[in-house]
Amino acid sequence: MHTHSLKQLSALLQSKQVSATELATHYLNRIETSHLNAFTHVDRTLTLAQAAIADQRLAQGDVSALTGVPIAHKDIFVTRDWRSTAGSRMLENYVSPFNATVVELFNQAGTVTLGKLNCDEFAMGSGNENSYFGAVKNPWDITAVPGGSSGGSAAAIAARLAPAATGTDTGGSIRQPAAFCGVTGIKPTYGSVSRFGMIAFASSLDQGGPIAQTAEDCSWLLNTMTGFDEKDSTSVQRDKEDFSRDLNQDIKGLRIGVPREFFGEGLAKDVEQAVRAALAEYEKMGAILVDISLPKTELSIPVYYIIAPAEASSNLSRFDGVRYGHRAAEYKDLNDMYRKTRTEGFGDEVKRRILTGAYVLSHGYYDAYYLQAQKIRRLIAQDFQAAFEQCDVIMGPVAPTVAWDLGDKSDDPVANYLADIFTLSTSLAGLPGMSIPCGFGQGEKNSKRPVGLQIIGNYFAEAKLLNVAHQFQQATDWHTKAPE
Ligand code: GLN
Repeated sequence: MHTHSLKQLSALLQSKQVSATELATHYLNRIETSHLNAFTHVDRTLTLAQAAIADQRLAQGDVSALTGVPIAHKDIFVTRDWRSTAGSRMLENYVSPFNATVVELFNQAGTVTLGKLNCDEFAMGSGNENSYFGAVKNPWDITAVPGGSSGGSAAAIAARLAPAATGTDTGGSIRQPAAFCGVTGIKPTYGSVSRFGMIAFASSLDQGGPIAQTAEDCSWLLNTMTGFDEKDSTSVQRDKEDFSRDLNQDIKGLRIGVPREFFGEGLAKDVEQAVRAALAEYEKMGAILVDISLPKTELSIPVYYIIAPAEASSNLSRFDGVRYGHRAAEYKDLNDMYRKTRTEGFGDEVKRRILTGAYVLSHGYYDAYYLQAQKIRRLIAQDFQAAFEQCDVIMGPVAPTVAWDLGDKSDDPVANYLADIFTLSTSLAGLPGMSIPCGFGQGEKNSKRPVGLQIIGNYFAEAKLLNVAHQFQQATDWHTKAPE
């Protein structure tokens, strides 16, 4: 049953061949015996209560396409019933008084929550090794990272512990773990998915999105999770759209921009081979490859690692031991309480970013770093607009290598940052981007590790991206492969 895609499960539910309770129980059993550390909180009673409601709705015919479908949420989305930790000791036992808008929308559609998914602390990381609750393992090779920060989400889909998951992407955190785990994920245009109740990392970049087995499944999930939300001031006012509407369109004549800068030095041979083979497959389907340039790709790393920490240092100031979350047990005075609370509550990477962020925002450095970064951010976005005059979508690798070994980069923040080179610019520009499985590499150890193809579109081109991805998935079977 767990090999089925969300779409197949939905059909089984609607035709009453399986009940929501049976499905939920099946996945809960799988989660219980899994050793990937993909979940931070599972509660059988809560899940089965939701499943019972879904079964009632199915019996009454009061349904959406997702009613009864199991889903798991990245532990960045707050939930009223499950704990909401953001992978941090700071929020170890935190229970939110409200649901994130995304969670609320899925609840209304009748999905059944399987639990909360492990992630890098406050979504800061590329390997899911920064979680207070321990690293997540890659189901393809448990000595490898699953990618980050939505590592729990991607690992759970790959290991078939859930047919659908939410993730968030600030600089690649949906696309890169999807690539490392051989699953499909999409980060929509900034502002499409409400950030209300998404624990904030870098507010001008954070964007929620789905991870699932197929592009078609992702289109269904996006249909539910997008939409204007008055509780999020950066939410975009647009008519509801059906992201599945273009899935079956022919892609003959589609112009695929292939950025030179994504295929230079530093791109591992095994990744390049798989991505080039995918591009060749697209040519067979009638697409045309266009050589393009995104000249400021390299600058996206320093720009992102100034802007994201700046916003993080501001967002994370709310964790002061007063309002909620962890508070040090002993302290001399108020300042000592703040200091001890934050010292104990945050992990190293989070502290590093708070320090960097406070520095680049401070008097005398603001102009030199933060303002300069904002200017280059604009130029990066303009590069994309110039590119989209020559092509309809852009394709390239998601990451320069396949998943690395657990522990390999955990003491080297810069090595982690460099691995984000191909995903950051899309986020800085606020564009939609996705990752679909397109083959396997060996890494350094001759093990089998998935490779992702990145597809980037212009603003609000999600339906097109999903169409382009779906056509590939009709012609190939990489997305059906699952680890043993
Ligand atoms: N790896 C990037 C970082 O550590 C992106 C994380 C994300 O998208 N949440 O900031």
